Amino acid sequence: MVALAPLPPAADGLDAEVDLLVIGAGGCGLVAALAARAGGAEVAVVEKLDRFAGNTMLSSGSIPAAGTRLQRAAGIDDDPARFAADLRRVAGPHDADPLVDRLAAVSADLVHFLLDEAGVALTLVTGYRHVGHGVCRLHAPPSRRGADLVADLERAAAARDIPIAFGNPAVALLVADGAVRGAVTESAGGGTARIGARAVLLACSGFGQSRPLRDRFCPDMAAIPHFGAIGSEGDAVTWGELLGARLGNMAAFQAHAGVAQPHGALVTWTVIEKGGLVVDDAGARFADESLGYSAFAERVVAHGRPTFAVYDARIRDVTAVGQPEFGELVTQGGARAAATVADLAGLIGCPEAELAATLHAAGEAARGAAADRHGRTAFGLGPLAPPYVVTRIAPALFHTQGGLVVDGDARVLRPDGSAIPGLYAGGGAACGVSGRRGSLGYVSGNGLLSALGLGFLAGRAAARAAAAARAGTAAAPLPVSNDVTIQREGISR
Ligand SMILES: Cc1cc2nc3c(=O)[nH]c(=O)nc-3n(C[C@H](O)[C@H](O)[C@H](O)COP(=O)(O)OP(=O)(O)OC[C@H]3O[C@@H](n4cnc5c(N)ncnc54)[C@H](O)[C@@H]3O)c2cc1C
Repeated sequence: MVALAPLPPAADGLDAEVDLLVIGAGGCGLVAALAARAGGAEVAVVEKLDRFAGNTMLSSGSIPAAGTRLQRAAGIDDDPARFAADLRRVAGPHDADPLVDRLAAVSADLVHFLLDEAGVALTLVTGYRHVGHGVCRLHAPPSRRGADLVADLERAAAARDIPIAFGNPAVALLVADGAVRGAVTESAGGGTARIGARAVLLACSGFGQSRPLRDRFCPDMAAIPHFGAIGSEGDAVTWGELLGARLGNMAAFQAHAGVAQPHGALVTWTVIEKGGLVVDDAGARFADESLGYSAFAERVVAHGRPTFAVYDARIRDVTAVGQPEFGELVTQGGARAAATVADLAGLIGCPEAELAATLHAAGEAARGAAADRHGRTAFGLGPLAPPYVVTRIAPALFHTQGGLVVDGDARVLRPDGSAIPGLYAGGGAACGVSGRRGSLGYVSGNGLLSALGLGFLAGRAAARAAAAARAGTAAAPLPVSNDVTIQREGISR
């Protein structure tokens, strides 16, 4: 359990001082550190785990952005208004509505910053449109691995001498006169350090790993396992509540319907978008797969039966070329081939006649000869053809989408709309833009949009505030309010 602690009365009670202290070395924290440094700020990052192991590492690194030069070069006409409209169409009304326009507007600048300033390798994914997006706008590492995104960000941080202290969890925020002014960290050897800062960014992700917080805020996902990073223990939510922050969209989450069983690897939804189907252990479809991997996971939970991704060798091969992680699953025997419908039924363990009827009906819909009874209209490469391929799949929770409500500079807000001085939040720590409840509101890339977008905004804002404070101009210090009570002193975990 994390806590609050009083700032020592004199600077010599501190072990270090920086302009911005970033808690969490994921996508949000690393981008914030780079943006803050680009703005001239002194910044340091502390990380709970002994290596990079957050959700950003687990992701495919796909970042949505509208109006980038990569899109223009590909002849794609896009702009922030279209992007924001797509996000709102899927998510509906929610507690972070103003952030939708802000994140859409900054998304192209973010991608250009990653390319030009940070040297991150990104390409525009043009093979297909992702779930919820009206045009191709996902920018991803060529490998489609979040680990490569993080490796590029780490290289950029090292080139700028930005310190990243691994194995150093922040265990308490230092607070003075209602303003956050640093943090206490613990080291592996049991020692503690007090790091003073003009501002602190909570980039420490969501609460998927915390059973009590999940049960309290997000009971809809109680039945499914957490597939996300172990560091997502909800520290930001705990600190936010201690400081009187407003929480928003707490019951929203990103899920995925396609975790391969028993391999535990991801069956990328690309195999479904390219024409694959999801059937149950009776050989029947039960929902529109084009809802997307996150929304479909809710349908699977409601259906309550074992599920199988059914595709064919063309889809398997074309997907494996572009997405090495799926290629590894294929190599490990996670995609089993069947020459006939009878063989396929045997692998699933369902009646052949039912499965044949399902494939026939879906084929008619894919050919445009009949309407799909589940409402699906896009079938990618069209009717499935032998040899068929099947993978047993199950749903999992990826990432919570609720958190601390922030303004357009990622400053943490109280219920009355005022900012808590010195405190920023982004990524999984902040209230996301994926609707108020459940997994239906998640659009592909919403996780990294919020992580990298808010990190970018927080880093720039913190650098501006630090520069103003140094210059003694009116912009700083941020207004300090005395209405925050330190509820727990000292360090406790
Ligand atoms: C399998 C998977 C695939 C995904 N694919 C995509 C995708 O392609 N596109 C997309 O947009 N989103 C995707 N997401 C969601 C996305 O990964 C997250 O939304 C995003 O990475 C969150 O970034 P973050 O920086 O907030 O958190 P993280 O990357 O999780 O980083 C937070 C860090 O903070 C550390 N930390 C926690 N508490 C403390 C503490 N007290 N002190 C110090 N450090 C602390 C954690 O250990 C962690 O390293 C995926 C998620 C999963 C699980």
